[in-house]
Amino acid sequence: MRNHRKIISFDLDGTLVSAQYGDMVWNHGIPEEYAKKYSIGFKEAQEAVIKEYRTLGDGDLLWYDIGYWLKRFGLSVSSDELLKRYEDYIVTAFDAKEVLSRLATRYTLIVASNAARIFVEKELEHTGLTPYFDRIISATSDYKMVKKGEDFYMRLCQEMGAKASDFIHIGDHPIFDYRAPSSIGIEAYLFKSPDPTFSIYHTEEIDEKVISCLGELEVLL
Ligand SMILES: [Mg+2]
Repeated sequence: MRNHRKIISFDLDGTLVSAQYGDMVWNHGIPEEYAKKYSIGFKEAQEAVIKEYRTLGDGDLLWYDIGYWLKRFGLSVSSDELLKRYEDYIVTAFDAKEVLSRLATRYTLIVASNAARIFVEKELEHTGLTPYFDRIISATSDYKMVKKGEDFYMRLCQEMGAKASDFIHIGDHPIFDYRAPSSIGIEAYLFKSPDPTFSIYHTEEIDEKVISCLGELEVLL
């Protein structure tokens, strides 16, 4: 089925929602539990946990799987409990709601995130953004792909029954949200929040097609 409305796909962390949430769960929540379990200080636990994360690295699918890490560290807290504990850190981009509500009347909106589905769903549900999206895709959980490279975007087009030229993508990663989609013909924009804590990527390399709030995207369409 060909989709005749243009599709706008959004990255999630660092674009619609602050990247702080993931950071808190992975680099504070898990170390805190680790410190309790092994009766060591927080700093020492944090170092140990981060060192363990590095043994896999972000090129391994398991790296994104919180259940795997809780089990590997022998922690009894559940992933749901841990994700709930830090939900106050889920902060939406200030104009996301109003911009998405307007765009949703004219475009098909989707989320294309690298994060595991459990995080994506938690963040969208907590912010109330879920109803604006027709599809929610986690590269790691749904496609078993660790990066949103060219193959990810090709599969996305295929699944949406659309051509690359029917797509617009926006996200905060210079390679996986900007260069990769651009290289297959998707009109891409790099999101660079003026708030330095909103995204974990800080690149100065790309100047063209950079937007600093979602409202700017609306003007460009
Ligand atoms: Mg991102």
